[in-house]
This record gives sequence, C-alpha cells and structure tokens, in this order.
Amino acid sequence: MSSWVGQAIRRGRLTTRYPAEPATELELPMLARAPRPPAVVPDRLGAIAACPVAALSAAGGSGIRADEGRCIRCARCAAHGFDFSGSAECSRPDRAGLLVPPVPSGPGARAVPLRQLGRSVHVFLVDAGSCNACNHEVLALTNPYYDAQRLGIFFTNSPRHADVLLVVGVPTAEMTEPVRRAFEALPSPKAVVAVGVCPIGGGVFQSTPGLAGSLEELVPVDAFVPGCPPAPVSVLDAILGLLGRSRARTEG
Ligand code: SF4
Ligand code: SF4
Repeated sequence: MSSWVGQAIRRGRLTTRYPAEPATELELPMLARAPRPPAVVPDRLGAIAACPVAALSAAGGSGIRADEGRCIRCARCAAHGFDFSGSAECSRPDRAGLLVPPVPSGPGARAVPLRQLGRSVHVFLVDAGSCNACNHEVLALTNPYYDAQRLGIFFTNSPRHADVLLVVGVPTAEMTEPVRRAFEALPSPKAVVAVGVCPIGGGVFQSTPGLAGSLEELVPVDAFVPGCPPAPVSVLDAILGLLGRSRARTEG
C-alpha cells in the first residue's frame, strides 16, 4: 500500500487541467478540429469530389463551404490546402454554427434554462446506432484523467434522474421511439446533446437504409459536438456550454 501512495506522490496530478486551461494537443488533436477552407481552393471541384461524406460544397463565387456536422476528419481535403489548426472550439449551440464559413442562421440557439440547476448535472446516454467509438469517448469522461465528476457532471442509468440527454450514433428507425421516450422521460429543464457527426449529419452511415434521419428531426437539440469520434474534451465543452461554463465560448 505504501508503495502505491509513494508512486502517487511522485507522479503528482494526472487529471486534465481542462477547462481551467486550454485543451492540449493530445486532448484535442489536430484532426479532431474543424477543416478550414483556404481563401482560394485552386481545384475546388476536386476538393469537393475528394470528400467521401459530402461535407464540402460550392459556396458563393469560387468559394467552398465545409460542414463540420458531416466531416469525419479523414483529411483527404488537406491535399487541397485545407487547414485543421484554426479552431479550438469543440461544440456549437446550433446547427448553422457547424458551417465554415458560416451562413446567416435563423432564430439562433434555443435558450436552455439549465443554469437554474446550479453547478451539477446528471447525464443519460443513449446509443441510437453508433459504431461504439463515440461511446468510448463519452465514457472516458468518467475515468480518472477526465474526471467529469470534479466539474459536477454525473452519469445516471435512468432518464428520469437526468438533466441532459447525450445521443451517440445515427438514429435508426428502430431507435426512433426509444430516443423520443428517453427525451420525454427527462424532467424539465432538460437539454439534448448530439455527440459525433452520426446524429448530426449521418456521417459515414448517411446513405445506409433504415435510418430515421438526423437527431434534430426527432427531438430538439441544444448542443452539437462534431467529430468522428469527437474528443472527450469536446463533449465536456458541450455540457459545460449548457451551464454557461464553456471555455471555448467564454473565450469567444
Ligand atoms: S476532412 Fe474528410 S470528411 Fe472532412 S471535409 Fe475534408 S475530405 Fe471531407
Ligand atoms: S460519429 Fe463516427 S465514431 Fe461516432 S458513432 Fe458515428 S461513425 Fe462511430
């Protein structure tokens, strides 16, 4: 026992400093960030054709637009000048915020009164049809490194005890009703977070038969976490954003 205590003292603190300090390169690797189109894309049509999930489209004049809600970070567009180093933001409060460059959005993000809950929230996770990678990244929040509990974020096994519904995976037809029922079971105030591009834009499964559409078509979504899969700090950012404690959004 004493040797374990000695090791712990020698190693010091291993838990992430996020969100008190910015995410490190290991916590938010370059390819977990958004692809930024260059000012000029010499081979615009080639770049659009290279994207395997239709995340790139022509925009105004000779411009090009990237949709983070579809992008799986495969980096094929890097050969056409795209840059992955620009954004440190990890989640967005509305779907339009996932478009780069942005488009004028509608009424804006839904106001979620979760701040009423103080500094603690309970989270219920639903897998609507994932490949399991997003589940692993979300559940990493409970390990000693990310230690979401230190931020007042707790996972619960019942939607009736939850404030936040986290959904991973592309909603399949079979999961439509369970997702809706889980949403209805959450007491108000409540919020929904779409984790990964699958529930946002379908990701690699967007052309698969038997899908029920995007999560937004089933329930109101309050935070969008792009990535395939997203980094755990991106999921943390989304939950903290609901509480008005997002590092990225307060940094502007
Ligand atoms: S990283 Fe891949 S998926 Fe994302 S925009 Fe580039 S080519 Fe498309
Ligand atoms: S977003 Fe990517 S990693 Fe997450 S469930 Fe879909 S395919 Fe898997």
